[in-house]
Amino acid sequence: MSLSRPKHFPERSMRGYDLHHLEMPTATPNQSVIASALADLGSLLGDRVTAAEAVREHHSHGESTHVPALPDLVCFPNSTKEVSEIVRVSARYGMPVVPFGAGTSLEGHVHATRGGICIDMRQMNRVLRVSSADLDATVEAGVSRMQLAKALENTGLTFFIDPGADATIGGMASTRASGTTAVRYGTMRENVLALTVVLADGRVIHTGTRARKSSAGYDLTHLFVGAEGTLGVITEVTLRLHALPEAVAVAIGAFPTVQDAVETVIEAIQLGLGVARIEFMDDRMVAALNRYSHLDLTERPTLLFEFHGISRSVVDESARLAEQLAREHGASGLAWESSPEGRERLWQARHDAYYASRALRPGSEVLTTDVCVPISRLAECIVATRTDLDGLGFPGTIVGHVGDGNFHVLCALAQGQSEEADAFAYRLVERAHAMGGTCTGEHGVGYGKKKYLLAEHGEALDTMRTIKRALDPENRMNPGKVVDLD
Ligand SMILES: Cc1cc2nc3c(=O)[nH]c(=O)nc-3n(C[C@H](O)[C@H](O)[C@H](O)COP(=O)(O)OP(=O)(O)OC[C@H]3O[C@@H](n4cnc5c(N)ncnc54)[C@H](O)[C@@H]3O)c2cc1C
Repeated sequence: MSLSRPKHFPERSMRGYDLHHLEMPTATPNQSVIASALADLGSLLGDRVTAAEAVREHHSHGESTHVPALPDLVCFPNSTKEVSEIVRVSARYGMPVVPFGAGTSLEGHVHATRGGICIDMRQMNRVLRVSSADLDATVEAGVSRMQLAKALENTGLTFFIDPGADATIGGMASTRASGTTAVRYGTMRENVLALTVVLADGRVIHTGTRARKSSAGYDLTHLFVGAEGTLGVITEVTLRLHALPEAVAVAIGAFPTVQDAVETVIEAIQLGLGVARIEFMDDRMVAALNRYSHLDLTERPTLLFEFHGISRSVVDESARLAEQLAREHGASGLAWESSPEGRERLWQARHDAYYASRALRPGSEVLTTDVCVPISRLAECIVATRTDLDGLGFPGTIVGHVGDGNFHVLCALAQGQSEEADAFAYRLVERAHAMGGTCTGEHGVGYGKKKYLLAEHGEALDTMRTIKRALDPENRMNPGKVVDLD
């Protein structure tokens, strides 16, 4: 298999970014190696390994505009032992390994750019243990967010991290995912306590414990959280859970300017109002949602708040203070919803953001990108990004988990606009870096954002390469993602 340069990689050079890392590698395993590996894996897994074109195609991409790249083989293990055996086969034949969760990542994370063996984790979908006393659970890595939610029904417990898509817990750990609730409940970094990991040579290690804190040595758990499958395959995850809040209230309000909305967020956080979610939508996003979801929201910068508390009076008090703050910043039409149905209706609108943006231009491809900046620079960053977008030839919308300084831009691209969109994405990252931010708050690096890491990390990128070489000296684990060794 040979891969051409992805169509959306710009040729021009941008100051400070590492263009070397734009190149796609072409070396992939040859046919006799693939046939031998298939025979070995067949005796281990039976019909749970395949070289069928349709299955390989299904595993050749995530949910992004990046060019697909097919693995040579796809395996469906159902135990840690089987994952270990598969990795040993990959070592025997020098074939890359690409772990695959639900394939919802956005930066070419699961694209098998060097072919190899894709390990689809979704048959490892058992919830192994739930503890109400300790508020934790251990699950196999292929458990999806919604499977976990189902298992927690009637326990009074919940797992709050919701990246929007029905991702797997292993994929979420591997991208250090987060979502609307990170402002209160944290990201996967704060919510993973321990892991079982298969290393590049097939050894199985256990990192962390169920203890809430530990000073015992290097923090390997959080080395694998966010490693995007480049250091090992996660097979089990021990997660923190939270008690379901007794009372919840949700409000939506429109603000005169982005600055007014963001200042309300900053003050709400500074006052410790117990905000569980604060989501921002710019006026174009609101207009897109009005069209797509048949709403009649005021088409201005908008905040969607959610408060959690141990009683209705606690939540009501937070809501009252938030309303006061919002009005001081010129908010109008603040509408509160405390019924589950009303809340669901408002959040559904937020979750429709991707589809509403795509509907702005039927048949378009949506480029979704995210950056994160210190919250004090957030309004400035959003305003500059909006001005930039307004001068371009495609519609773009902005939504954000603004309590964390994180926002997403969704661009609805017609054919032939990918270079213009890439140049925009470069400028967005450059802007975020200049403000002390990061090129991605939660989507991760994959191969799409590798080019920004040198500018972001400088010498520290070499330390990342040293870690990668130590754990995966043959560069077989999801090669070509996060850091390059060659
Ligand atoms: C509409 C939409 C909205 C989104 N919104 C958000 C959002 O708000 N926040 C957010 O964080 N993300 C968001 N995402 C991105 C995506 O859902 C997350 O990145 C998610 O964590 C990916 O999980 P997955 O199971 O689909 O992993 P995959 O896409 O299958 O894999 C992601 C990466 O993890 C690796 N991996 C997967 N499983 C394992 C494993 N068991 N061991 C080792 N490595 C593994 C893969 O090799 C790959 O590098 C969104 C995506 C979509 C389509």
